[in-house]
Amino acid sequence: MPVLVFDLDDTLYPELSYVHSGFRAVAEFLSPLLGVPAEALAAGMIAEEATMGRGEVFDNVLHQHGRWSKALVGACLRTYRHHIPALALYPDAERCLTRFSSQPLYIVTDGHKEVQARKVTGLGLAGRVRHAYLTNRYGRHRAKPDPHVFDLICRREHVAPGEVIYVGDNPRKDFVGIKPLGFRTVRIMRGNYAHLEADEAHEAHRRIHSLDELTEDFVTSLCTPPRELAA
Ligand SMILES: [Mg+2]
Repeated sequence: MPVLVFDLDDTLYPELSYVHSGFRAVAEFLSPLLGVPAEALAAGMIAEEATMGRGEVFDNVLHQHGRWSKALVGACLRTYRHHIPALALYPDAERCLTRFSSQPLYIVTDGHKEVQARKVTGLGLAGRVRHAYLTNRYGRHRAKPDPHVFDLICRREHVAPGEVIYVGDNPRKDFVGIKPLGFRTVRIMRGNYAHLEADEAHEAHRRIHSLDELTEDFVTSLCTPPRELAA
């Protein structure tokens, strides 16, 4: 029975929904300090992110209201990182996890370990996968494309890499480290990297546009070794 491993951000849920959820938490925190309704603050941050990116959103909202200080920017950042996010899986992710619920399922995700853990909890995934591997827990050098946690999954499940499928959205790092070891890879075409053209080393074995395409037949065919190798 193949082991299915999923990336988290933009594979199972839209990462931007986490960002917006964080902005709303920061807006609630800043509202009494700035004397501005939280909804207006959140709308301003969301609009700025859409045009300018998220790098200076907290600096700018504080500047706009004449309250910028390094300490307040830090407080905004902590509020953002510590908030309990209100998140929902993509509908096709919801269906996919249900469809394969009797198989061993895992998550492998990079990023701030506490933030990623709160996303896993917020999405109700803790009870639906055998384990969510947050690479950050094993040190920064274990982030993708490092294959360390994928090896841990093989040991835990007593399977070879050819029986493990990884589904991710980022061809810069999701597949290039594990493909040479024999892991099977699937790229879901959504999120920030949907239009990125990747060379063969970085590209996944298969591309899909929805997790609905991940059927039992698809999974089986991906794990069956090519004929010339099986012979
Ligand atoms: Mg991702």
